Amino acid sequence: MNLDDMYRETILDHNQNPRNRGHLENPTKTVGLLNPTCGDEIALELELDGEKVSDVRFSGQGCSISMASASMLTEAVKGKSAEQALALAKNFKEFLTGSQNPENLGDLEALHGVSQFPSRVKCATLAHNALEKALSDKES
Ligand code: ZN
Repeated sequence: MNLDDMYRETILDHNQNPRNRGHLENPTKTVGLLNPTCGDEIALELELDGEKVSDVRFSGQGCSISMASASMLTEAVKGKSAEQALALAKNFKEFLTGSQNPENLGDLEALHGVSQFPSRVKCATLAHNALEKALSDKES
């Protein structure tokens, strides 16, 4: 099995068995985002315990890239501090635009192939943008 196949398997696995899909009983933050170029819709629910992301869920619908990325993201940020979660989202976006080597991205590294398709980068970063919005928006 080569690296591309391994990546494909990982993306497929997150599509078939999405992690943290559903709703939280008492989300601290809920952010919904739309990617109109593809039609992806994602809502991210976060439960914050002080500065810590104690729980996270996503819901919505879209292409396999957007759904797999959301699933991977929720898995990656659960239990992290808000600061660490924001750093991960930033790191992932830089990784996809080719300016950064991956650092502790876990399964998200499987989305590297997306960097060759600028239109799909929006699919892969949708959940990350929702996370950034949820954690930087002090109002809601
Ligand atoms: Zn998409």
